[in-house]
Amino acid sequence: MIKFLDLQKINAQYANELKQTASEVIDSGWFLMGEKVNSFETKLANYIGTKNAIGVANGLDALRLILKAYIDMGVMNEGDEVIVPANTYIASVLAITDNRLKPILVEPKVSNFNIDIDLIESQITPKTKAIMIVHLYGQVCWNDKLADLAKKYNLKVIEDNAQAIGAIWNGIKTGNLGDAAGFSFYPGKNLGALGDAGAVTTNDDALAKHIRALGNYGSQKKYVNEFQGLNSRLDEIQAAFLEIKLKYIDTENQYRRQLASLYLKGIKNPNITLPFPENTKLDYAQNTEHVWHLFVIRCTDREKLQEYLIANDIQTLIHYPIPPNKQLAYKEMNHMDYPITNAIHNEVMSIPISPVMIEDEVQKIITILNEFKV
Ligand SMILES: *Cc1c(COP(=O)(O)O)cnc(C)c1O
Repeated sequence: MIKFLDLQKINAQYANELKQTASEVIDSGWFLMGEKVNSFETKLANYIGTKNAIGVANGLDALRLILKAYIDMGVMNEGDEVIVPANTYIASVLAITDNRLKPILVEPKVSNFNIDIDLIESQITPKTKAIMIVHLYGQVCWNDKLADLAKKYNLKVIEDNAQAIGAIWNGIKTGNLGDAAGFSFYPGKNLGALGDAGAVTTNDDALAKHIRALGNYGSQKKYVNEFQGLNSRLDEIQAAFLEIKLKYIDTENQYRRQLASLYLKGIKNPNITLPFPENTKLDYAQNTEHVWHLFVIRCTDREKLQEYLIANDIQTLIHYPIPPNKQLAYKEMNHMDYPITNAIHNEVMSIPISPVMIEDEVQKIITILNEFKV
């Protein structure tokens, strides 16, 4: 069986270092807001290139806290609108509605699954305060037009960078393109903790300070509460694990690119549509570096393809089967129709890609995919 993602194997690569650092944390008797978190935050900020990085409990909280801080700071108000891709993972939308802001869903491009930047301007109203871009599946979503729009309409750009740590646009890392970014270190993400974890990066010192306080009961000084905060902190032990794994993220992402290029060259089946890598220069800006969190193909006969792959011992997943606006959680949006988003959700399938797969496994998957007949 070729597993979709072998987390045991991924962490086994670093088992000695992970066990060593876990022992250090246990022996220290210090589990929150200590040296390990400080050290990881500094390394993450250096890696992304931002002035600040703030560890939080998970990726959803990272996004929630950014918006909550903007509301507290008077940058936006309840009821204001935030533009977000219609085909994102639901967490991006939850962060918006949790803050009583209104998500304005915009269709993606079917070619690259990212929000169609050309459709954004027509959705901007006097209530629009931010654009939440999502670097979906590890692919950069950015171009000069987006930056110009944000400037022209005075909008904040929030990056949902949960799937794209290490991705680069013209020498700038995702997480350092917009005004603030949310990261997830969910175990299956490219930089995965051994549990839940997340972070915010930003060059805005006031925002960083505010988010840090909000995640700690709205307090900067113990028992002095300036804001109505919540508890969303990064654990010392997770920060310690992440600091180790951060050292290897570029190597791992590079290996993912190598496997992706085998797929891109090898898969030749008219029934299967390949993902659209930015560096083909047909779309967006040039010089973007995809980190292949997921390798997502499309097939109009997806269920048949998935069964066929299972029969051939290959695990796949669907990211995602139901778009946010069709979820029960968002009954008020169920009537809205986003045809491109629907088509994507009906056709996408993620095939295995990970830093611990070997090329032989990728070749086997290519051969089996090329033999698929509808
Ligand atoms: C994983 C993910 C999140 C949420 O991160 P958690 O750490 O699971 O809360 C948000 N947005 C996207 C696009 C994600 O893939």
